Amino acid sequence: MILRWDKKGRVRIPENLFKKYFLTFEGKEKELSLVDTGAGLLIRPETRLESKINSALYIIHGGNNIFTCALSYLVDCGSEKILIDCGTDLQFKKLCENITALGFSPGEVKRILLTHCHYDHTSGAYLFKKEFGSEIYIHGNEVEPVEKGDSEWTAAFVYSRSFPSFKVDHALEESSLKIGNIQFQIIHTPGHTPGSVCLYAEIEGSKVLFSGDLWGWYSKRWKSILEEHLKSIRKIENLEIDIWAQGHGVLKGDKIKPFLASMKRCIENGIMTFVSIPTGAEIETYNIAIKYE
Ligand SMILES: [Zn+2]
Ligand SMILES: [Zn+2]
Repeated sequence: MILRWDKKGRVRIPENLFKKYFLTFEGKEKELSLVDTGAGLLIRPETRLESKINSALYIIHGGNNIFTCALSYLVDCGSEKILIDCGTDLQFKKLCENITALGFSPGEVKRILLTHCHYDHTSGAYLFKKEFGSEIYIHGNEVEPVEKGDSEWTAAFVYSRSFPSFKVDHALEESSLKIGNIQFQIIHTPGHTPGSVCLYAEIEGSKVLFSGDLWGWYSKRWKSILEEHLKSIRKIENLEIDIWAQGHGVLKGDKIKPFLASMKRCIENGIMTFVSIPTGAEIETYNIAIKYE
């Protein structure tokens, strides 16, 4: 599907594509503007369910809608397999099937590191805990919403769901964490939510940044801190990044710098943020900006 935009640079996203997220979010119709990042404007709703990035890093996805279930990443740390984010409770079964399809067993996932508390990234965690005894890590600022099942802070209300609460085993803070043969740097990047983190690691010779929803989308209902967002971007902007593993898309190589620059520009202007859309077999990422009202 190719979306065309008018002379003012605006486009209406077809309702069937983003209905819940944007067009009817909080009862208001949203108008979306496309930002030209040089990446093109081809947008397809279908996404791959699983994919190998390199021999120790895999995308796992439990559904066919990139927005209702965020991407999870399986990292093979040698002696241990971990997940970074774990999708939704509704997609748990499919997610496990996709882990198996990649040649791993979901029961091998003994730790899950969560980038922030949102439903689309975390609500499958209680099932991983129950079925496989996986230990859950999340930033200290967001232990409360997941343990209490706060459907506002976890954004579960966006999906008309209640949040399935679970106990957190380890509160993350800015530090470094060695798992198997991989050293993860935990970077606290509040903005989208108060306990958002990025994880930075070298995996099979590639420098990888896992950033959850660092791209944004603010709401008071999930306690976004706009003033902190730019500071958070500054914390990661000078990192050397070969693979940018976001919650809703993956960027590689020369796509990274332009994306980061446009993202920063938008945040500086205080009116927009990005949604990245992985498409088809190439898992390329395209950008749309949402205008805040
Ligand atoms: Zn989020
Ligand atoms: Zn998300």
